[in-house]
Amino acid sequence: MPDPGPLQSSIPAALAQVRERIARAAVAAGRRADSVRLLPVSKTFPADAIRIALHDGCPRFGENRVQEAMLKEAVFASEPEPRPEWAIIGHLQTNKAKHVARIATEFQALDSAALAETLQRRLDAEDRALDVLIEVKTSADPAKTGVAPGDVLGLVGSLAPLPRLRLRGLMTVATHTDDETEVRRCFRTLARLLPAVRDAAPDPERVDELSMGMSGDFEVAIDEGATVVRIGRGIFGARDYGANPPRLG
Ligand SMILES: *Cc1c(COP(=O)(O)O)cnc(C)c1O
Repeated sequence: MPDPGPLQSSIPAALAQVRERIARAAVAAGRRADSVRLLPVSKTFPADAIRIALHDGCPRFGENRVQEAMLKEAVFASEPEPRPEWAIIGHLQTNKAKHVARIATEFQALDSAALAETLQRRLDAEDRALDVLIEVKTSADPAKTGVAPGDVLGLVGSLAPLPRLRLRGLMTVATHTDDETEVRRCFRTLARLLPAVRDAAPDPERVDELSMGMSGDFEVAIDEGATVVRIGRGIFGARDYGANPPRLG
């Protein structure tokens, strides 16, 4: 028998472990074991890795760059079902909105009214709808993107005339630090915004998602109310941006 290779054996094992940790963290927080959605983040990892997770019960994958998501979408377009759905989780330039409108099921980094309007126009052209989460900047880190907490409700208000954008909730990336108090503060800031966002939303019943927590901090995020955790390295292994650019085939 041919060697199944490291991906085939390690991804299912890592997935099982991550699923178990998510369920345990949810129960520890007094919530249902299945109340947290796992979004595997496949950025920089090849389509081979995505295929394995796809056949292990993961329908949707997070990518932070549209260009990379499009290349992967093209790989799967010629394959039989199941095919992955895409969640774009990184800051988007307006001139790339058309690609998101074409291929994404979910966009977690909405951060301006201008981008929302462009997405609506592009979605009209594609006759599609898009689940959106507003990305909130919950830390002082100048490298982090997103809307300031005080500007979130203004952005929610601007979505009223844009029916192809279905507001589902909020997303944040916590400060990158070992200080759990600071990480927890970021998640708590996001969670506290949700009720007012729901009240101001065009369709309040649909607004129930808090996307927060990554490989290094998802258990803290679940404790603070995360309903979606975005996990890359914890499933697919270490990312190497330098010498080995992502192999897409
Ligand atoms: C890369 C990325 C993740 C996943 O990070 P890991 O540390 O690999 O789990 C989550 N969210 C966003 C926005 C990302 O860009």
